Parts: sequence; C-alpha cells; structure tokens
Amino acid sequence: MNKQNQRNEQVVLANRPDGLPGPDNFEFRDAEIAPPGEGEVLLETLLLSVDPAMRVWISDEPGYVEPVGLGEVMRAGGIARVLDSKDPSLQVGDLVQGRLGWQSFPTIGARFLTKIDSSLGSPLDWIGPLGGTALTAYFGMHNVASVGVKDRVLVSAAAGGVGQMAGQIAKIAGASVVGIAGGPAKCDFVVNELGFDAAIDYRAATSMKEAVEAACPEGIDVYFDNVGGETLEAALANLRLGGRVALCGRISQTATATPYGIRNLGVLIGKRARIQGFLVSDYADEFDKVRAWLGEQRAAGRLQQRVHVLEGLQQAPTGLRMLFESANTGKLVV
Ligand code: NAP
Repeated sequence: MNKQNQRNEQVVLANRPDGLPGPDNFEFRDAEIAPPGEGEVLLETLLLSVDPAMRVWISDEPGYVEPVGLGEVMRAGGIARVLDSKDPSLQVGDLVQGRLGWQSFPTIGARFLTKIDSSLGSPLDWIGPLGGTALTAYFGMHNVASVGVKDRVLVSAAAGGVGQMAGQIAKIAGASVVGIAGGPAKCDFVVNELGFDAAIDYRAATSMKEAVEAACPEGIDVYFDNVGGETLEAALANLRLGGRVALCGRISQTATATPYGIRNLGVLIGKRARIQGFLVSDYADEFDKVRAWLGEQRAAGRLQQRVHVLEGLQQAPTGLRMLFESANTGKLVV
C-alpha cells in the first residue's frame, strides 16, 4: 500500500435512531492512518460484518455493552490483512479477525485480534460459516437448547446468517427442522438448498400460532428465536413437554417503541419448559474448538452458508437498514 495517498475512511455515528437504523444515523470521515505503536498493528480491512445488534449498540438505552458514542467509529467485527506490525505475534501479510470498526485502515492492539487459520477456510468463510453468526447458532443450539436426536426444532429468521446455521446444526444433531422466513424465495432456499424439512412463510400466515401448529403437528422440542414478538408467542403455544427456547435475538422488537407483550408464558409451567437468553461472547473459551468442528462439517459438505456481500465501506449503513427490512438473504457482509 502507498500510505502517502491513503486515508483511513471511517463510518461514524452521527445521531441515534428513533426507529429503524440506517444511512441517516451515520457520517463518513477521512482520518490520518495511525502508525502502529508498540504491541499494535496497522490493518487493511477486507470484510466487515453488519449485525442487527448494532441497533442496540447505537441506542443510549442501558444494554449489555457500552453504547457507541456520537462521533465514534461504528463498532463492527471484521477480517483484515496486517500491513505493518509492532508486535511479534503478527507478521506483515497475516490475516486476522477482530473488532475493527467500520473503517478501512484501523490500527489496533495485536492482543485484540485472532490470527486466521487459512486451513479452515477463506476470509469470507471466517466471517460467514466459521464466523460469529455460526458460533452463535452452535452455542444456542447445543449449549442453550441442548438439541438432540429426533427433537422437533423450529428456527426463525431461518434464511438469515444465524438462522441458516442453526437449522443445519440441528439437522446434523439428528433433529427435524422447520424454518420460518419471509417470502416464498427464502422458504424455498431454506428447504431446497439448506435441507430443512419444511418452512413457514410468516408473511403469508394469517395466524402464526396456527401456521406453526400446521407445520409442527407434534409440537416443538426446541425453538431457536431470532425475532421475538408474535412468533415467539406462537412457538410457546406449540411447545412440547420439556421444551427448550433459546432466546438469541428479537429483531422484530428491537426498533419498535411498542414491544409486543408475550401473553402465554404460563405454558412453561405445564410443559416444564425453559427459556434461556444467551450471548455468543459467553462461550469465547470454546470458539477455537467449535470453529474447528464447523470447518470439519463444512469440509464434509454438511454445512453451507449463503453470504450476502455489499461492496464498499459506504454501503455499511444501508446494509444495517437492510437487515430490518428483510432485504438480505444470508449473512450480511460489507
Ligand atoms: P439475519 O437473520 O441475517 O438478518 C435479519 C433477518 O431478520 C432479516 O433478513 C429478516 O428475515 C428477519 N427480520 C427482520 N425484521 C423482521 C421482523 N419484523 N419480523 C420477523 N423477521 C424479521 O441477521 P443475523 O445477523 O443472522 O441475526 C439474527 C438474529 O440473531 C438477530 O436477532 C440478532 O440480534 C441475533 N444475534 C444474537 C447473537 C447473540 O449472541 N445472542 C449473536 C448474533 C446475532 P425475513 O426475510 O425472514 O423476515
């Protein structure tokens, strides 16, 4: 890279969203490229993640992480190449994964980065089928929902980054899986490309409770929830004895001022069922082990992930909006 002609392009938070997040909430800024100090590396960003959780990070309501400050570079995970290193653990040309932020040439402490093992997959694989959404799906299905052979599993946002992996991971465990997705094209993808047993098009359903009942006539052992709201209520209504619900996300509720109130929590009593929320970061100690497993499954042809790529850092805020407008199929990456 000719650093003299390069600037560090950044996407910074300009204001906090009222409803859906998107381009109006961000500004573009050009900054000097910072030379790395002791223990730091200068990186060239290759791929950046766009995640529904960003809507939470840019609000100022109390959450599970500090909100991104106004004028700060937007927080984001990604994959980058080392351009200059002042740390013995990383060499020029190494590929790394970490919290880069939406910027083109970040300078970051080497201890915050994970070196990519290219034998497991390409940089795109490391943000897709070996990345955070895949790890989330694994820990939600196994560590939280304890999925097992012959379980009847329901997954929402099934054509998305986490959902498509969650369903396939349940299939590998020997479960039967029904996905919920918006529109016939996504339902077709879930069944005919990902190998789910059936799919529910929630946009076409007049009653989600009845749609789940029809698709899962014997009920549900495991519900992997990515959307919350009415879909969660419908899943609870169809739980079997000893059912498990992994609360992964609630995208239908994240940007609304009037959240949907779940009315049937009582079913958990009679069904001796449990609901558990989780964060993928809770399982950081197991990331390497599970990534190796994901790599093996992928090599054996049992796991695939569609990655939806937008080109150029300038697309990142638009990408964030797309997640909330169901305009992505698969893991969204810039
Ligand atoms: P994604 O599923 O690739 O994209 C979001 C999808 O959500 C959209 O494509 C859309 O699919 C669906 N959606 C959007 N608005 C909706 C609404 N109002 N009602 C129903 N569905 C709606 O995103 P992702 O990155 O894989 O994340 C999926 C979920 O996992 C999110 O809730 C996220 O917050 C959560 N998550 C949790 C963790 C954790 O550690 N707990 C980690 C990562 C992600 P349709 O076309 O099907 O509507």
